[in-house]
This record gives sequence, C-alpha cells and structure tokens, in this order.
Amino acid sequence: MKMTFKFRAKPTKTEERWLFSEFRHQKQLQNYMLQMRSQMWDYGSISVSRYDQQAHLRKLRENSHYRNHPQDMQVETIKRVDKSIDNFFGRCKDPKAKKKGYPKFKGSVRSLTWSLRKHKVKDKATGTFKRVRQTPIRETGTRYNRLKVPKLGEIKIRQHRRIVGDPKEVTLKKTARGWYCFIVCEVPDTLKCVPKSACGVDVGTHDFLTTSEGKKEGNPRFYRQAEQKLIRLHRDLSRKQYRSKRWYKAKDALAKQADIVACQRLDFLAKTAYKLFHHKDFDAVVAEKLKPSNMVKNRYLAKSISDASWGMFFEWCSWVAKRDGKHFHQVPPHHTSQTCSECCQKSPVKLKLSERVFHCKSCGLKLDRDHNAALNILHRAACALRGEVWDTILTETRNPLLQQACWS
Ligand SMILES: [Zn+2]
Repeated sequence: MKMTFKFRAKPTKTEERWLFSEFRHQKQLQNYMLQMRSQMWDYGSISVSRYDQQAHLRKLRENSHYRNHPQDMQVETIKRVDKSIDNFFGRCKDPKAKKKGYPKFKGSVRSLTWSLRKHKVKDKATGTFKRVRQTPIRETGTRYNRLKVPKLGEIKIRQHRRIVGDPKEVTLKKTARGWYCFIVCEVPDTLKCVPKSACGVDVGTHDFLTTSEGKKEGNPRFYRQAEQKLIRLHRDLSRKQYRSKRWYKAKDALAKQADIVACQRLDFLAKTAYKLFHHKDFDAVVAEKLKPSNMVKNRYLAKSISDASWGMFFEWCSWVAKRDGKHFHQVPPHHTSQTCSECCQKSPVKLKLSERVFHCKSCGLKLDRDHNAALNILHRAACALRGEVWDTILTETRNPLLQQACWS
C-alpha cells in the first residue's frame, strides 16, 4: 500500500528561480519526447518505447545542456509521456470512451517528480552490503527540516508529522498558495478485520450524510459560502487589461480563493470519513453507488452536487478502510428513499426533495427520509452478504456467487 505525506515547502527566492527554470526544462523535454513519438510514427510507422527514449536521453546527456539538469527528473518526465500515450491507447480500445484525446503539448509544468534511488550501505554488525533507499529529509531539530533536491541542494520544509514506511518518490509542486512537497512511501498492507458492526450511510445535499443510527452531519457548502467572493474576483479579473501586471495580480487572487475552497472541502471530507469509522468503532460502512457525473446533468442541482463532492468522499472512505483494515462497500441506489425500512413496501409516489419525512401507507411508519434511506442501504448490504436474512451484523460467512451478483 502506498501512503503520501504532504508538507509545506519554503524555498528561498534563488531556489525558486532554479525551480521555475527546471519547470521550463521539463516542459520542453516532455514536448520533445511527445513530438518524437508522433513524428517517428508519421515517418515510417515506427513506434518508440520508453526505453528507446531513455537511451536517447543518455546520449543527449553526454555532451549538452541536458547534463545540467537532474537525470531522475528527466526519466520521470519520459515515464509521464509513456503513461499518457498508454492511456490514449486504452481510450482507443474502450468503446464507451467518447473522446480519444491524443496527448497535448504542454504550455506549462507545475510540478517536479523524482524517484529515490537505492544506495549500497555496509552493515556494520555482519559486514555485508545492503541496498537501502535513503530518506529524502534531513532532520535539523529546529522548526524546519530540509528536503534534499537533486542538483539544487536542500530546501526548507515544515515537517509536521513523521513519515512512515519506505520513501520511494518525491514531488515538488507549486500551487496558488505556495510550494508543497509530496513524499510517497510504501507501507505494508493492513490485515482486514472480521466485521462485527456495520453502519449504512445516505448522502444528500440537505444534510451531507445521515447514518443508519439517525446521526446527521451538516452540509458545510464551502463553494456556496465563497460564491460571492469568487464572483467578485472573477469580475475584477475580467475588467483588467489582458496580461497586464494588474491582470496577473487579480488572477493570483482568484486562484488563491479557489484553492482555499478546495482545501476546506478536502479537510472536511477526510475528517468525516475518519469519524465514520473510528468515533463509533464501526468495522464496515455501506453507502450507495452513485454516479455524480450523471447527476450533475440536472442543471438545477449541479452546483450543489459538485459542491458536496460525494465521489471524493467515497474515495476517502475506501482509502481509510484500506489503511485501517476496515470494510467499505457500495450498494445499488435504486429506490432507497421510496422503500419502507420497516415493511419493505415500495411507495408508488416519488418523494419530492422538499419532503423531509417518509410516511409509509401500509404500516404507518413515520421517519426522517434520509434515516429511512440509510436503513435501507444497510438492509440491502446485509441481504447481499447473508442471502436475504435481515441482520445488521455483517459477517465474512458469505456466499461468493451471491455476493458477486448483488455487488455487481
Ligand atoms: Zn412500511
């Protein structure tokens, strides 16, 4: 399993200049490698692989300005081109893909990535040599630690937590609000626990989520809160002379505000996902399998649905479950808010979004609509796992064939 640690980086003005020049070099290299591929194909249907390009890079590095730039970053750029071409061919084979989209030439690059090499280290106790990957961070014992960057030296980072596992790859990225470094570490997989308690979750735009116990989490609506500010900043930008000093200033201000909204949302989603598993100690969480990309086609709800970002929330849930050895499942979402959780009767009339209470005509149940839906989701998962037996407790004794039929 891979874990990524994100820290704030603080390069000096000189270091920043070097990093920007490196961005330009990597952009040129990336465009050059992409052009090489398409031209060779046009020339005589010759396909160029990643290894051909790496061999070409080695030749270039012998006697040109390519020597002055870090090789690890250049190799990583070639890998990126290779991956983009692979993805393009994948889309060509996929009948569902609407746009094939040949990779485009880049106008700018905003991040640098390099993988960490293994070094030979002598083990003093046994006297044998071992190949070990060195950590990219030098600890200073002060407020700021140092990140080793090839060819540049060391730059300041604010390491607010320790990294775990074997560091493999480092990315340095420039965003609207500053520099960040991402360290990818390989961590041993966590064993999955045997689920003893489960919780159903219904997501919505009114309340962000409702659990099958009836607990609610409010929808913070970060985009809606900042909407007026963003409108003002957009208006400011549109009134400036294109590419003037003031235009760039207005552009930066807008990008910063957009970044703040994105960060707030990410923080909320990550914390809510953690809370769901750990505050009540649930072993399994079940949610609906929604398709937000289809749902945003509704033009009245599109902004609210995008703002809630359920897709990202489910991704975080499955990630937390994977990291902590818990379970996260998704069930089909059909008619969860129209069905009674008590007697399983489906009401023929669809509830309007403004109606917050579900009223069953056959058994007389009156329940909050989201709570009812969350119970239905949990019920559906239990049915899928145990073969039509109503039980809130999920166990691993399940029929694999039945499970496959129900999950798919
Ligand atoms: Zn009923």
